Parts: sequence; C-alpha cells; structure tokens
Amino acid sequence: MSALKEKIVRLIRAQGPVTVAHYMQIALGDSDAGYYMRANPIGRDFITAPEISQIFGELIGLLFVQVWEDCGCPKRFHLIELGPGRGTLMSDMLRAAKIRPAFLEAAEISLVETSPALRATQTDALAGVRAAWRNHLNEVPLGEPLFLVANEFFDALPAHQFVRAEHGWHERMVTAQDDALVFALAPEAVPAASFPPPHGQETRSYPTGAVFETSPASEGIVKEIAHRIAESGGVALIIDYGHAESGVGDTFQAVKDNRYADPLAEPGEADLTFHVDFAALADTARDAGAHVCGPQTQGEFLAALGIRARAARLKHASPELAGEIDAAVDRLTNPAQMGTLFKAMAICEGRGPGVPGFSC
Ligand code: SAH
Repeated sequence: MSALKEKIVRLIRAQGPVTVAHYMQIALGDSDAGYYMRANPIGRDFITAPEISQIFGELIGLLFVQVWEDCGCPKRFHLIELGPGRGTLMSDMLRAAKIRPAFLEAAEISLVETSPALRATQTDALAGVRAAWRNHLNEVPLGEPLFLVANEFFDALPAHQFVRAEHGWHERMVTAQDDALVFALAPEAVPAASFPPPHGQETRSYPTGAVFETSPASEGIVKEIAHRIAESGGVALIIDYGHAESGVGDTFQAVKDNRYADPLAEPGEADLTFHVDFAALADTARDAGAHVCGPQTQGEFLAALGIRARAARLKHASPELAGEIDAAVDRLTNPAQMGTLFKAMAICEGRGPGVPGFSC
C-alpha cells in the first residue's frame, strides 16, 4: 500500500469515513504525496488543449488584447491564470499579445498554482517574464481590472456527491474495508431544508441511485472572481469539460497513463476529476453581480475566434507541418473529440461590446 493510501486509511480508522471531496483534496493536494504535488503529470497521464496546439493560447491572448482595448486600455490590470500546468498557455498568450506592447507593459501577471513541481516547470517556460506565483486568487491585490483564464482547472477541484436513496439524499463517503478504500453512504439523509441544492434540482423526481454533485470549492472561487469583476472590471474565461445544464450523474473519474482507472485504488497516483457544472458556476457568478457569456462548446468558441484562419496562416508559413496542424485543430474542435464535451464560459461586467468568441 502506498504511503498516501496508508495515511487515508489511518485517518478513516481514527475519525470515520471522509467525504468524496475530502478524499479528492488529499489525493490531489497532500503536501507530501498528492498527485499534483509530486511531479508533472501533464503529457504523461493526460493531455490538455494548450499542449495540443500553440493556436489555443494564441487565440486566448488575442481575446484578452481585444477586451483590454474595448475597456479603454487600462494602464494597469491583473493577468491571471489559475492552474497553469506547464506554463504553455500563458507563454503562448504572451507571445501573441506582443502585437500590443502597451498591453504587456500594463499586465501584472499572476500564476495561481499550489504545486511546487509545476511551479518549477512554469518558471522555466516563462523565463524572462515578470510574474508572481500565488497559492490562491485572494493573494492577488484588489482594485485593478482582472483578465483571468482557467483551462482544466475547475475539474481538479473537490466536489461532494449525494446519492438518492429511499428517504432522501445521502452523502457519498469513502471508508476503509480491510486495506481497501471503498464507497459508502452516510447513514443520515441530508436535512431536507438544505437539499436539493439550487440550480433547478428537484428531489422527488429522481430514481434511487441518482447521483448529484456540487463543488463549493469551485463556487467559492467563481464568487470571488465575479465580485472582483463586478467591482473593478475585466473578463474571466473558464474552459473545461462539463455540462451546460445541471443534472444528475456520477462524473467522478480517475485517469492514469491516458486510461480510466479506479478513483480509490491508488490515491496520489492517478488524476481525479469531476465534470464541471457550468450552470452552477454561471448562477454563482450572476448572484455575485457579474454578467455571464455562454457556456458554449469549445468547438464553437474556437471557430468564432478564428482558429481556421490562424491554422491556415501557420500552414502557409510551415507547409511541412500542415498535417500536424490540421490534426490539432480537429482534436480541439471536432465534436467527437474535444469540440463538444469541452465548454467555454466568460464572466464579465456586462457593459461594453461583449467578449470575442461568444454570441452574447
Ligand atoms: N491549465 C493547464 C493545467 C491543467 S491541470 C493546462 O491546460 O494544461 C490542473 C492545474 O491546476 C495544475 O497546474 C495543478 O497543479 C493546478 N491546481 C490544482 N488544484 C489547484 C488549487 N487548488 N489551487 C491552485 N492550483 C491548483
């Protein structure tokens, strides 16, 4: 048994079963042996859009240049990335943004990253860039407009699961059976007054076994982003896999070596994620006083930003790479690949000409 699994088993024996959210937080974030804390998993266990093509980050960089100009070219603003992985997205954004040197001069760059291993990779990728690393968004000073991007960040945040049983919804827990970790239901149903949660969930119409997921960690961060944007202006772009409407379904999954794995088998060794509930995040942002564009599919979003024109230009410059460039565009936009499962959503002030890529 790995040291981290042993630690979780000991915790459960001492204190009783833990929630799925608590389990995920330890498995990914334990300071010694958490999945993201130890090493760089991107490219080994899974691949993300910025790693598929430089065009992804370039288009997002140009999007931010456009919204910066639309809001009157503020002399100072925060350019923030949540969960920057290998630093590729930020690096591609900054290269594309060189077309407006004043944008780069005005940008105070913050990278919100908790993993020391990934911070080291990001430092290399962004050598020569004036940037600050933060553990949490709340360490970024207040008072300036905020241009923020989060790609495949929210799927890595812990969520709670509730399972419909005969007399109500019970929280799904993780417990220890001999040396194995297994799921179990909390014996008491969640008090009816605090359930069903918002976002249109109707308790009675769900069959026994239905699973409802909610991520207070994600909603807390979106609330903070939306408050800041409502107060000081800016745009936040959230891209992730997930659903546009809230619903029921078990989306807790583990991936190791590009294959699905058992989420309880090897904590710390596999990536754990939930699908993002975009409707819940949109409601949270609106409640905090901001405006929401989308969500819409990644395929539509990238097409509206001009991915095909950009690909044509790259192919013209490097004809020998044409096949590779076409394959990357297909992977990012084809509904059978990342085009439909992945969604893009923007949080903004709601004044001004809207956000490029969105039809709002
Ligand atoms: N955005 C990158 C990486 C996605 S992987 C890409 O598209 O390639 C998730 C990233 O979020 C990793 O960098 C991970 O270390 C970071 N992360 C996970 N939980 C976090 C948290 N609570 N706070 C800050 N960063 C976190």
